[in-house]
Amino acid sequence: MNKNCDVLVIGSGPGGYVAAIRAAQLGKNVLCVDKRKELGGTCLNIGCIPSKTLLHTTESYWKLLHHGQERGLETTGLSVNFSQMMTNKRKVISGFNAGIAGLFKKNKITHLCGQASFRGTHEVQLSTGETITFKEAILATGSEPIALPFLPFDEKRILSSTGALSLEAPPQKLLVIGAGVIGVELGSVYSRLGSEVLFIEFLDCICPALDHSLSKALQESLTRQGMQFYLSSKVIEATVQDSITLQVETPSGLQTFTGDAVLVAIGRKPYTAGLGLDTVGIATNPKGMVLVDRQFRTNLSHIFAIGDLIDGPMLAHKASEEGVAVAEIIAGKKPLVDYSTIPQVAYTYPEVAAVGFTEKETQALCLTIKTGVFPFKANSRAKCNDEDDGFVKIIADAASDEILGVHIIGAHASELIGEGVVAMQNRMTSQGLAETSHAHPTLSEAIKEAALAVNGRAIHK
Ligand SMILES: Cc1cc2nc3c(=O)[nH]c(=O)nc-3n(C[C@H](O)[C@H](O)[C@H](O)COP(=O)(O)OP(=O)(O)OC[C@H]3O[C@@H](n4cnc5c(N)ncnc54)[C@H](O)[C@@H]3O)c2cc1C
Repeated sequence: MNKNCDVLVIGSGPGGYVAAIRAAQLGKNVLCVDKRKELGGTCLNIGCIPSKTLLHTTESYWKLLHHGQERGLETTGLSVNFSQMMTNKRKVISGFNAGIAGLFKKNKITHLCGQASFRGTHEVQLSTGETITFKEAILATGSEPIALPFLPFDEKRILSSTGALSLEAPPQKLLVIGAGVIGVELGSVYSRLGSEVLFIEFLDCICPALDHSLSKALQESLTRQGMQFYLSSKVIEATVQDSITLQVETPSGLQTFTGDAVLVAIGRKPYTAGLGLDTVGIATNPKGMVLVDRQFRTNLSHIFAIGDLIDGPMLAHKASEEGVAVAEIIAGKKPLVDYSTIPQVAYTYPEVAAVGFTEKETQALCLTIKTGVFPFKANSRAKCNDEDDGFVKIIADAASDEILGVHIIGAHASELIGEGVVAMQNRMTSQGLAETSHAHPTLSEAIKEAALAVNGRAIHK
């Protein structure tokens, strides 16, 4: 059967489904196709949402277990029902699957399930046999985990993030290759459940995109929680028998690590398998990313690409911003995505969140800066909550006082960073932020104090 539409969106992740809704709001006849039956893409089905659900449940457990009694909460007999935890995770996901389906219905977007493959510059065929002709298309097919050639995923014991989100029981000992955001988040989940967790990281720090002071503080905190880190270390060989043995080159020589599961979290790559980009000649770079101009147009000007498929941070909210922008461009508007104010977060305990330049980046750009740091140990709400690990660091331009970066390590940093984003988006100075009233007692007062500290005026330290 053949279907026609103005705008075909391939992929229903946070890039694709948001683009579809915005294009429909702007009066386009939209069809969105996904090879997965459920809407929501990686983010909802095997990424952000399941990982945050498991992180929240295990954090609640871990806090009660380790800090409950001193707070007067009797925790004798506290235990984990792992299969119920996974059932709850699936329930959260399916609620949102239905939610997006409802939004599609409300916006009169046609949803088809099937893998799309180009047959011509205005036509795709689905794995179901249907063909779709379109005026314009948005590619939002996302990304997939990178495997190590000598350690292919079986998703039972050699895990990508997808397998690690759906285990039947926590492993006794989990080796995590790669201490980036996904690695430390999923490592934290299993560490809290009692697994021995050991990270092997090629670089000399964890979560390398973070400001060095936060990366160091996060590693120290996770180490205190019992996780082990081998940095500047490279896995060179693996033997998979009853247990899995890794040969690792470490700064102190060759070492052998054994575990009963391995999570390979060394990054993700754009996903274009089966899409038939070659059939129509859509250009990619050597890493497989689809090349686009500033309007998200591929070399075929009526075919656009967004999200993990193109250059830039692989983040759901970045994909969604691009989704809105591309729909508006198709409708003749002139939107702008401000990449300098896209926040990044690790949902560990403590959480880490940042927007803008790190101190190292300001050095590379030869910017003259001043910084203000305020510890949560001196914040009253953090003390009330027993969540006083971490600090806020604000970087401002030395001459103009404009805020160049906000970096937070601490409980609920993922929520607090929104204030930094708004401040930066509006090109606020640290003084302007410092002179804004913040409710007491709140964690956000630490942001005000860090802003005061930029000019040596912090009250509580
Ligand atoms: C474990 C994990 C945790 C994460 N946590 C966070 C987080 O906390 N915050 C954050 O911002 N980001 C997080 N991310 C990253 C985030 O999930 C991605 O950046 C985001 O999903 C990218 O959105 P997208 O729309 O580009 O693609 P995706 O969400 O990957 O969606 C692409 C969709 O395209 C479909 N598709 C692919 N090819 C075809 C085809 N040929 N035909 C039809 N359909 C096709 C796929 O089935 C998929 O549903 C996480 C990722 C992982 C793996």
